[in-house]
Amino acid sequence: MASMTSPPRKTALVHSHAFDRFDYGAQHPLRMERLGLTWRLMEAYGLIRLPHATVFTSEPADERDIVALHTQSYVDVLKAANTGEAPRAASLHGLGPGDNPVFPGVWDVARLIAGGSRLAAELVARGEADRAFHFAGGLHHAMHNRASGFCYVNDAVLAILTLRSAGLRVAYVDIDAHHGDGVQAAFYDDPDVLTISTHERGERLFPGTGFVQESGGAGALGYSVNLPLEAYTESEDFLAAFEHVVPPLLRAFRPDVVVAQLGVDAHLTDPLTHLALDVQGFARAVARIVELSPKLVALGGGGYDLRNVARGWSAAWAIINGVELPPSLPASFAPDLRRFDFEGNTLWDAPVELPAPVRERAHTYVTTQVAAVQRVIFPHHGL
Ligand SMILES: [Zn+2]
Repeated sequence: MASMTSPPRKTALVHSHAFDRFDYGAQHPLRMERLGLTWRLMEAYGLIRLPHATVFTSEPADERDIVALHTQSYVDVLKAANTGEAPRAASLHGLGPGDNPVFPGVWDVARLIAGGSRLAAELVARGEADRAFHFAGGLHHAMHNRASGFCYVNDAVLAILTLRSAGLRVAYVDIDAHHGDGVQAAFYDDPDVLTISTHERGERLFPGTGFVQESGGAGALGYSVNLPLEAYTESEDFLAAFEHVVPPLLRAFRPDVVVAQLGVDAHLTDPLTHLALDVQGFARAVARIVELSPKLVALGGGGYDLRNVARGWSAAWAIINGVELPPSLPASFAPDLRRFDFEGNTLWDAPVELPAPVRERAHTYVTTQVAAVQRVIFPHHGL
């Protein structure tokens, strides 16, 4: 893995141990303990103390930073929901039983996540880090006036706005299994922000969007890029498609900085989605993003099999730092291995053989989608 990455540069890891205090609810698939678990695996691997890396503690974003994207009426409702009791207008803004529950501290945690992603962006904008990683971030579904898909405040958009206000040209690359619809919507008419999202096709998965034809508003055609994938797409097909689409567009767009959403829910065992990546494939995609990014603000995202989340984001942070990890999980991580029911003690996954017709279907689909991106998007970039 490490042989694919550039030499280490100044890096920043942004985290808060306060996340442990929050809970979406016992039945909710987004488990906050995935963040602490990831931190502990990074710590066990020695990734918290690296020569060129600094760990920063996130602070809650100010309300005035959040209204750079979100409407005041939505923010007012989110603030009122902080008690854990749903305010009257909650359902008008996507809050309530289901995906976006009202729980005690919902505004506090949204502000904390937003603040962490803004800090990661500020560190890169100020030149204090070349690459920053805030793995609690990447809540890419939140819309300007409503919560959506477990996301209350769109920290990815706020990070991009932070970089834009420093005069930087930004490309956004999102490899979460779900379409990065909130980020796409925020910059749909803006040709100065290129958004690229790879995800399971909208007919099969929330939020039901992310088709190639969603290519940008009238003044920004070709600056919203979507690569939908068929169920059971494996690492090999995903990486080949990624290679056809992402590097040429980034080279043509020439960003100063890339904001990457590194959701790890495209994994085969993720309980909410149907793609078939392994941790190795995820890590190779991260390595390519790192190589292609002059500077990088990396965020987390989805991931509902906690064992994949901890392994995927530890691998990502190692790659960001040009560090090669031993494939065996460290002995000091053993209590978590048992508690979270890890299948083995390895960072990487054992090979899984999917039935040939299933693989063939995914392969055929992605081939047609890459061709569609090349037809619909590439001409706008002189490709
Ligand atoms: Zn997702």
